[in-house]
Amino acid sequence: MCIFCDLVKSADSSSVLVNDDAYVCVRDINPVSPIHLLFIPKKHIGSLNECSDEETVGKIMCDMKKIAKKMNIDSYRVVVNTGKDAGQTVEHLHFHLLGGRTFDWPPG
Ligand code: AMP
Ligand code: ZN
Repeated sequence: MCIFCDLVKSADSSSVLVNDDAYVCVRDINPVSPIHLLFIPKKHIGSLNECSDEETVGKIMCDMKKIAKKMNIDSYRVVVNTGKDAGQTVEHLHFHLLGGRTFDWPPG
């Protein structure tokens, strides 16, 4: 049982910003910035460590900039937490798109 596989299955137009053949884009349920979107491949992939789907990763990265533009942000951060020490809590690959405020570097 994987919460993001469930989310992908039950995805409907009320919660999904983009429903692509390969991924969905939704708002994070617990946002850490004014804009906090998740791009979630429809196929179950545990993390970036298990990922070899270059086509889907490439599509997500290229579409992120289009969504950012639509939301009028030209400065944003893309995060892929990979593994527990990096803060990954859901073991289904996902890309965070964070924007709408300034971010510290290096991250905590
Ligand atoms: P990570 O810590 O990188 O694994 O990110 C998991 C993210 O998924 C967190 O930011 C959660 O707030 C978010 N999240 C968990 N469940 C849901 C859900 N049902 N809908 C939207 N976002 C979720
Ligand atoms: Zn999954």
